[in-house]
Amino acid sequence: MDQLKQIIRDIPDFPKKGIIFKDITTLLADAKSFHRMVDLMAHRYIGAKIDQIVGIEARGFLLGSALAYKLGTGITLVRKPGKLPFQTSSVSYDLEYGRDTLEIHKDAFNPGDRVIIADDLLATGGTMAAVVELVRNNGGVIHECAFMAELEFLQGRRKLPEGIVYSLLKF
Ligand code: 5GP
Repeated sequence: MDQLKQIIRDIPDFPKKGIIFKDITTLLADAKSFHRMVDLMAHRYIGAKIDQIVGIEARGFLLGSALAYKLGTGITLVRKPGKLPFQTSSVSYDLEYGRDTLEIHKDAFNPGDRVIIADDLLATGGTMAAVVELVRNNGGVIHECAFMAELEFLQGRRKLPEGIVYSLLKF
C-alpha cells in the first residue's frame, strides 16, 4: 500500500494558492500500480451482487469503468450540467465559494439496484454527499462509496452515511 501511496505526487498551489493537490495521474499511468489498485478495490466487491457502478466526472470515470469491467456490471455517469443527452435529475451543493450541480440520467437504475459510487479522492465530502442524494433519489441502493484515496484530516466521512465509505489509500 505504501508503494501505491508513494507514486501519488503532491502538487503545491494547485488549483489555487495554499492547496496541496494529490495528483493521481502518476498512479494511473504506471501499469503495475494501476492494475494493483484496480485489483485490490475490485476484490473487495466480489460476491457483493452489485448491479451498477456510478462514476463521478471526471476521474471517477477511470476507477469506475475499471471496477465495472472487473465486476461484470455496467457503469452510469454522473456529469456536470448539460453533458448528458437524455432526461436528467440534478443535485446542487455548496462549494467553498459558490455552488455546483451534478446530473444523472433519470432512467439510470431499476428500483433497488445495488450501486457502488466511485471517485478518485475524498476531500471535504461535499461532492460524494451530493451524489449519494442523487443516487438515492433515483432509486439506487448504495452498497458503498469507493475512493482510491482519502484526505483523512479533512474529515469528509462526517458528511457521508456511516458504514458505507471505503478508501484504499489514506493520507
Ligand atoms: P470534496 O467534494 O470531497 O471536497 O472533493 C472531492 C472532489 O474533488 C473529487 O471529485 C476529486 O476528484 C476532487 N479533488 C479534490 N481535491 C483533490 C485532490 O487533492 N486530488 C484529486 N485527485 N482530486 C481532488
